[in-house]
Order: sequence, then C-alpha cells, then structure tokens
Amino acid sequence: MALEVDSEEPFFCPVCGSVMVDPEVGFEVDRCEHFLFGYVDMAGELEVFSPDFAPVARRLEAAELDEEYLVPWDEQFAQLCEPGTKIFGLTSRGMACGPVSITVCVGVAIPAAYAARLELQEVNAHG
Ligand SMILES: [Zn+2]
Repeated sequence: MALEVDSEEPFFCPVCGSVMVDPEVGFEVDRCEHFLFGYVDMAGELEVFSPDFAPVARRLEAAELDEEYLVPWDEQFAQLCEPGTKIFGLTSRGMACGPVSITVCVGVAIPAAYAARLELQEVNAHG
C-alpha cells in the first residue's frame, strides 16, 4: 500500500502541490487540507495528524494494536483508514555519516475524482 519515494527533496501534495514534508523542518509546514498524518519510523508513532484523521487515530488506539503494528505500511493500519487514504513512504538516506536511512510516511486524503484521474495517469504511464 505504501508507495516508496526516495527523496531528499520536499514532498509535495499530489493533489494541490503544497509542501507536506520539508527535509529541513519536517512536518512543520503549512499543511493543506489533504494532509492526514505524518509518521517517522524512528519515533514509531504518529508525529502529527489532522483533525480529519483523529477518528482514525482513535480507531487505531481502540484496536489495541501492538506498537509494532502501528506502522502505516501494515495491512491492518491501512484497513482502519478511510477509503481514499494514500500512504506515501519517503526514504531519506545518507543524512548522517554512514548508511543511515529514515522512513517518513505521509497519509494523504485523495478525493475520489482525483483518484480516478491518478489511476488513469498510471495506466497511461505503463502503456
Ligand atoms: Zn493538498
């Protein structure tokens, strides 16, 4: 479910183009309405989430998932999200001396109309 993006660059909202994650300041940006949650694998928990995502966060808590299950790439996590939630996994490498890799996940609410267009683009891109 999680889409892997290898990036040292800011991550832009696929819907409106706003910055969602900035390598300098992380999630401390003016988040757009499509931003659902931000997750950093080193912290092992949701860093920030929008009011829209709060009910899902409560469901995740209520499901009493072990902490190790509270990872956005887990199937169960994905099932508890609203339809239209797309999770992007951003992996940054070489941020320190040595082979350090940090994975940040961003949950994006993709409007249905936009999702249809996105799928069409993917189909076209793959011929
Ligand atoms: Zn947006």
